[in-house]
Amino acid sequence: MKPWQQAALREIPPVNAILESPTGQRLLAERARPLVVAAVGEALDALRRQIAAAQDEEELAAADRSPEGLAALAAEMLRRRLRPRLRRVVNATGVVIHTNMGRAPLAEEAVEAIAATAGRYNNLELDLSTGERGSRYAHVEGLLAELTGAEAAMVVNNNAAAVLLMLSALAAGREVVVSRGELVEIGGSFRVPEVITQGGARLVEVGTTNKTHPRDYEAAIGPETGALLKVHRSNFRLVGFTAEVPVAELAEIAHRHGLPCLVDWGSGVMLDLTRFGLPHEATMPELIADGADLVTFSGDKLLGAPQGGFIVGRRELVERCRRHPLTRALRVDKLTLAGIEATLKLYLEPERAVERVPAVRMLTAPREQIAPRADALARKLEAAGIACEVIDGVSRAGGGALPAVDLPTRLVAVPHPAPQEVEARLRAGDPPVMVRIQAGALLLDPRTLWDDEVDLVVSALRSAIV
Ligand SMILES: *Cc1c(COP(=O)(O)O)cnc(C)c1O
Repeated sequence: MKPWQQAALREIPPVNAILESPTGQRLLAERARPLVVAAVGEALDALRRQIAAAQDEEELAAADRSPEGLAALAAEMLRRRLRPRLRRVVNATGVVIHTNMGRAPLAEEAVEAIAATAGRYNNLELDLSTGERGSRYAHVEGLLAELTGAEAAMVVNNNAAAVLLMLSALAAGREVVVSRGELVEIGGSFRVPEVITQGGARLVEVGTTNKTHPRDYEAAIGPETGALLKVHRSNFRLVGFTAEVPVAELAEIAHRHGLPCLVDWGSGVMLDLTRFGLPHEATMPELIADGADLVTFSGDKLLGAPQGGFIVGRRELVERCRRHPLTRALRVDKLTLAGIEATLKLYLEPERAVERVPAVRMLTAPREQIAPRADALARKLEAAGIACEVIDGVSRAGGGALPAVDLPTRLVAVPHPAPQEVEARLRAGDPPVMVRIQAGALLLDPRTLWDDEVDLVVSALRSAIV
């Protein structure tokens, strides 16, 4: 270390002097002393590192060594420390259900219901008509039955929990027959063969990777069989020479042998998507009408509700799930239930669901609806001095739903020689803005943006492009 650096280190003010500065005094008035002292310690460490790293005396002069300057640095460090780590992110990627970004954003109705329930007492397990203990599952069971046509329903922590519970309650110690074309892995930790084992059942694989026929199931059924299970492929698609047994036929086979037909449908959709130009996905009411005895699905994928695992189907089977000891360990929280109830109520009027549930609105938005929003974003970027152009592109449903389905969209492309660097700065911003990158350009997809986020994106880009 050079003598001028050693001199600078000796000049560092003591902690007390920093605490006595106006900003230090303000911090002490607002926050507990140990927090403030720790932040001052951090600010001093940062200053020492800056002095040690300085190449010359000029660079050293830039390091603020005044008590007030150090207190201001401590204030900033304290602000960062107390800022939520889990926070809002602006999603300009066009991927509607992004597990890394919290899956489905909630409808305002759901947010309000959660807020109204969160800070006060509620009737979670209170039957208000009798004053006796009630069931937390009662709040959404009627709604789910009405929306899906099922006799009974319940909700647990997530769909992985729903599948585990369904298998544990209905097939433990027995064999569960599944097509080899449906033994999926979702998100690295949910693997169908492992969940079956964890549920205490034995997997019996039938068919081949690409083709499974009714006779394959028939041949596998024996005295040890507990259920036939159909699993939604979710995150991959089978193309070419393929065959699978649809739920209606699988249910018929199961019932002929006195077995339940269980379905893990992953991203449950309640509405017919074909009228929005999307491929046909069996809806919950269709699966129940086709004879599925129990269907499980996620709350926070395309349903657009909070995280939850729905189990809908025959009353006697739902009851067995409800009575299973695992249910207590997998049970759904009151805030989740409040959000789910509010979201499901929107589905009572399908048009309202399309308008109000963000995941459904974003998924079904046609290119013509996105085009003027892309144009508006481009105009604002140009007004801010950022060159860009509006081009055709595709968005994705994401979240292991509708794989390889292209949602036509209009993208704002911002050319840049180092898009990775701009992307990193956007990600480090407050709030962080997530974008796609393509060779030589950043791509912004208005599909997943709210109109009130456009100005935010413009100012974030203005500071990130240097
Ligand atoms: C997503 C998915 C799951 C897991 O659901 P979570 O809600 O993430 O627990 C299970 N099965 C299928 C088929 C899925 O698509």
